[in-house]
Amino acid sequence: MKKITNIGVFTSGGDAPGMNAAIRAVVRTAIYENIQVTGIYRGYQGMIDADFVNMNRRSVSSIIQHGGTILKSARCLEFKTKEGRQKAYDNIKAHGIDALVAIGGDGTFTGADLFSKEFEIPVMCIPGTIDNDLYGSDYTLGYDTANNTVIEAIDKIRDTASSHSRVFFVEVMGRDSGCIALNAGVGGGAEAILMPEVDSGVTELFDELALAESREKSSMIVIIAEGDQNGGAYNVAKIVKEKFDHLDIKVSILGHLQRGGSPSSFDRVLATRMGFKAVKELMAGNSRATVGLRGTAIVTTPLEEALSRKEFKLDEELLAIANIMNK
Ligand code: ADP
Repeated sequence: MKKITNIGVFTSGGDAPGMNAAIRAVVRTAIYENIQVTGIYRGYQGMIDADFVNMNRRSVSSIIQHGGTILKSARCLEFKTKEGRQKAYDNIKAHGIDALVAIGGDGTFTGADLFSKEFEIPVMCIPGTIDNDLYGSDYTLGYDTANNTVIEAIDKIRDTASSHSRVFFVEVMGRDSGCIALNAGVGGGAEAILMPEVDSGVTELFDELALAESREKSSMIVIIAEGDQNGGAYNVAKIVKEKFDHLDIKVSILGHLQRGGSPSSFDRVLATRMGFKAVKELMAGNSRATVGLRGTAIVTTPLEEALSRKEFKLDEELLAIANIMNK
């Protein structure tokens, strides 16, 4: 096994709170182990442009509490071409980088898998996305922080909703995943939750709203994941308005604020454990794998498996509980 001397670390694709904490853990673990670290700016684009920075312990001082990513992120179409990846490889080789830690989502992992196979470069991946939609980890980086952000927003919306006896349709992120909707919906006491994975249709929502009305609730909050099959919050609001035209309906799309903010304690600790594990695994000769949390343990999953499998991330028991809470 070839000894690793210089790890290139980068963030790519959608950003998520906790990415900085993961970068910090990679840098500090590697330096502790006498391995150099190169920061690669803007993900794969930075590899192609040779946009590198040599990192030391101080480069990552006071970043653990910040959202976003100090190494920036980007989407890079050129990396999808053989020529682009060749350019990236020539640059990292010239800089002495002999292993990679990629922090990102599905797309980032797909690129890392391909690159590692083509050029025989060891790579470990850390799942960073607020959507929590990756195989191989119970929780992805940023998901817990996003849930807290959404709950805070729901609490604030609830204040104004109850003052005016309004019904609010709050759209949260999750194109294919209802994880944020379910968790924040339960935590925020929503009257109804619509998720892409659950084909509930609007009839059930009508029933839930009618029930809430019969109980003389002064306000109602419906959480809708952006990928819900009924077409997002505006569309659902329109359908509901046609049937309940006496209701004072408002729509609030939370949008990108869910991707920002200071990472929660949970995300900081998770990121630190994942960054540490990624470096240790590279040193032990592991490659083409993701690190993740299973129960309380940090484990690895081969990239091939992580990329080819889907898991149903909604907690079945929580789904059942959510229904009872709304009744
Ligand atoms: P995420 O990592 O959040 O899923 P993207 O899907 O945008 O975000 O992927 C991030 C980057 O990974 C892309 O901009 C591209 O550079 C690279 N990538 C994605 N898919 C592939 C692929 N099939 N081959 C090579 N690189 C890819």
